[in-house]
Amino acid sequence: MDGDSYQLLRCTALRANFLVECLQDLDKSLRESGSRLYVGKGDPIEVLPKLWDKWGVTHMTFEQDETGEPYAKQRDEKVLEQAKKYGIKVESFASETLHPLHKYTEVAKGSVPSTMGAFQTLFGKMGKVTKPTPAPKKYPPSDDHDSKIMLPPKSATDLPWPRHVPKDEVTPHWDAANCRGLAPIVRGGEVCALAQLKKTVEERPNFVATYEKPMTSPVATREMSTTVLSPYMSLGCLSPRRLWYAIAESSARSSATSKSKPPVSLHGQALWRDFNHLMAHEANRNQPGSWGQIDGNKFCRPIPWDDDKVLLSAWKEGRTGYPWIDACMKQLETEGWIHHLGRHAVACFLTRGDLWQSWEKGAEHFESRLLDADYALNGFNWLWLSCSGFFYQYFRCYSPVAFQKKNDPNGEYIRKWIPELRELPSKYIYEPWTAPASIQEKAGVRIGRDYPKPIVDHAIESKENMSKMKMAYDQYKELGEADTGSSKPAARTSVKSPARKRQKN
Ligand code: FAD
Repeated sequence: MDGDSYQLLRCTALRANFLVECLQDLDKSLRESGSRLYVGKGDPIEVLPKLWDKWGVTHMTFEQDETGEPYAKQRDEKVLEQAKKYGIKVESFASETLHPLHKYTEVAKGSVPSTMGAFQTLFGKMGKVTKPTPAPKKYPPSDDHDSKIMLPPKSATDLPWPRHVPKDEVTPHWDAANCRGLAPIVRGGEVCALAQLKKTVEERPNFVATYEKPMTSPVATREMSTTVLSPYMSLGCLSPRRLWYAIAESSARSSATSKSKPPVSLHGQALWRDFNHLMAHEANRNQPGSWGQIDGNKFCRPIPWDDDKVLLSAWKEGRTGYPWIDACMKQLETEGWIHHLGRHAVACFLTRGDLWQSWEKGAEHFESRLLDADYALNGFNWLWLSCSGFFYQYFRCYSPVAFQKKNDPNGEYIRKWIPELRELPSKYIYEPWTAPASIQEKAGVRIGRDYPKPIVDHAIESKENMSKMKMAYDQYKELGEADTGSSKPAARTSVKSPARKRQKN
């Protein structure tokens, strides 16, 4: 497939490999049902018509991209034009969300809600979620499958698998002491997706029934505290409707007397997902291609972010000098995943919290590295965390030091991901620059040489950034833009941001 596909061109080997595993798994199950996966190479707009001719194709079915992601949208439109020319009968489906996005818009009579509370009300009017359709058990036999075109990918991309990770394990544990290689948090494909669903949802009725997202832990180092189903959801290995019913059935088996409710429950997480997709759909309906960017995005308040490549690289590479932030970024690089609250911390740190860099840059980096990279969810959450859209309490800022101290006082998570700091006493693990030289020496680390000093002073920067946010918000109001849900494309403001005081290592 050619073109600027959100899923492919911007991703790392880790993510590409996950996708290849998903395709290999799909091929395997299709073969077990008497068919197989064919992989065409090139631009689908050119390749598909050639295959229709060669194979005498009369029907085509496909999954619509309802969010309006620019590449997918123009690809589908062009393929449909071609199909019309070739007289091909086309049927499309919208099963990426619990209810098709256009149905939400219809029921909301064109005025879709931009808060989760109002979305939950809309969801209540949508009727029952349709039960997932079982996969076909057998395809019609065909003896010339293999003589047709190109073969499916034979092996994964050139990513070297760390040798100590058994390939058939669903969730391998990464041992930082022995390996610094890449080890995806989960392996690709529907088979692994269903195993993960069984392990985390079907076999844990009490966990499911009492699940409250804010109570889950971002610092788990072995068993994750959430389901880690997101990579499968983002690539279609697990359908949201299947997840929905698995949650309902598991919860019904629970003996818990008090059950959690949306938005914090597991059903609530599935609702957040639909809500995020609906917001992307709505932004792109208002101005095509505006979701995932500042310009023209009706949900985005323009903030005059800085553009400092040194700060951005330090954040990306986990060299900010704040161990909790750096540990999260190392997990992202190595496993392609971070817990939701870890994502909160690093996104806030990059934008309004400390570094004052644009959320677009952060979203782009996440998109290339997350196994679960998702156009709608990534865009929505970056808007939220940077206080550019949907969430506006910029005076509430995560501390890169205090945030996790209460959950992980010994800094086990930091010790796992930043081996340089492993021997430091717990007292200094979140603020290693405060450790006296003798303690650093004893722990085998010199701050400023083996691990960076803080790249900015959080106490100063977070305060200054709040003033800058206030200025930007005031100016936004003066420009007469509505708070949220404005149908007008956003304009850029020209609030000046004071020069940043970067700390020297
Ligand atoms: P669980 O809590 O077990 O939830 C089950 C499912 O519900 C998830 O698999 C996911 O599909 C959905 N879900 C959970 N949390 C959210 C949420 N806050 N918003 C929308 N849907 C949710 N998630 C992605 O899938 N892709 C992304 O590209 C992405 N980018 C993000 C960027 C930032 C800055 C932040 C703060 C969050 C982002 N998220 C993204 C949302 C969230 O962090 C992940 O969906 C979640 O951590 C996945 O872990 P899980 O499957 O264990 O979640």
